[in-house]
Amino acid sequence: MTSRVLTGLALVVLVLAAAESRAQEQPPATGAAAEWDFGDEREDVPAWTSSLAAQAPEIAALTAFAALALVGFFRKSERLKLVTLLAAVGYLGIYKSQLISITNIFSLLTLNLPILQFSMGWYAFAIFTVVSTILWGRLYCGRVCAFGSMTQLLDYVVPKRFRYDVPRTVERRASYIKYGILIGAIAYYLTTRNILVYRYVEPFWMFTGEASGGEWIGLGVLLTGTLFIRNLYCRFLCPVGAFLGLLSNLTVFRIKRWSECSTCRICEKTCEWGAIAGPKIIAAECVRCDDCERLYNNEQKCPHWVIIRRKSEIMARQLAGPRLSAGS
Ligand code: SF4
Ligand code: SF4
Repeated sequence: MTSRVLTGLALVVLVLAAAESRAQEQPPATGAAAEWDFGDEREDVPAWTSSLAAQAPEIAALTAFAALALVGFFRKSERLKLVTLLAAVGYLGIYKSQLISITNIFSLLTLNLPILQFSMGWYAFAIFTVVSTILWGRLYCGRVCAFGSMTQLLDYVVPKRFRYDVPRTVERRASYIKYGILIGAIAYYLTTRNILVYRYVEPFWMFTGEASGGEWIGLGVLLTGTLFIRNLYCRFLCPVGAFLGLLSNLTVFRIKRWSECSTCRICEKTCEWGAIAGPKIIAAECVRCDDCERLYNNEQKCPHWVIIRRKSEIMARQLAGPRLSAGS
């Protein structure tokens, strides 16, 4: 556990250090404004305080969104989760077009990160994503990503009879496709430095509305497939989900399991992400959707509680038996 915490902290420090060094490459901004000297050109650079003031509303809105996501997560509230999904699509998707993208992974790998002073909101968002993944798992995929939230909202409107349940063995094998896409996209980018590859491996550009006819047709096919196969893109194709899945192996606070989980398969059938295999939670696939945890806490449905109740009833009867015969 200590090594996981240290690895996670090292990752956060690496990102911050890279951002800080990028910021330090720029001439220092002191007082109300500083000047950058680009040969003949001189440009006023705003001070950190004015940059912070300009970005404060964005940071405040992101903080409020993160608080909403975390409160819903800790309370295991279905209603708050629904509000979070709607806010993710409306605010992060349609209004801001702010999603973690494969391009951010390229930037991280090449340490070509945005300048901290002008991208505080982005850093807050990225750090929330990384830290929450290390602490609890793919919380980002379960309720923050605008695209994933949009496809999860389909569950509320598409009738269950339209949905096709992919057999578990196929599902497990297909889940590796996204790792292949992640590796392929990274290899292509590092070889060619062509960042436009992102348009072929993720559909997040849909929130900007800028795409060619062919791209819209591809997106249409993907979304039509998602109507029949739940979270098709997230489960099998998303390279960002694959990256966060790899990071999830470091997760500190995992979902607890009862000893009865090795024989009872109720939550394995409940999980729509193929993240439960017998007694084991597959951390890389789990998006902390709460479905199984709501079941664990349900004393009427979860066999763990039913068995405890039955045992205590039997003990109570056994204790009451001698007393009754002593009294008669
Ligand atoms: S798997 Fe990809 S698209 Fe799905 S929620 Fe995660 S990042 Fe978003
Ligand atoms: S049902 Fe449980 S194991 Fe499956 S994705 Fe949701 S939280 Fe993870």
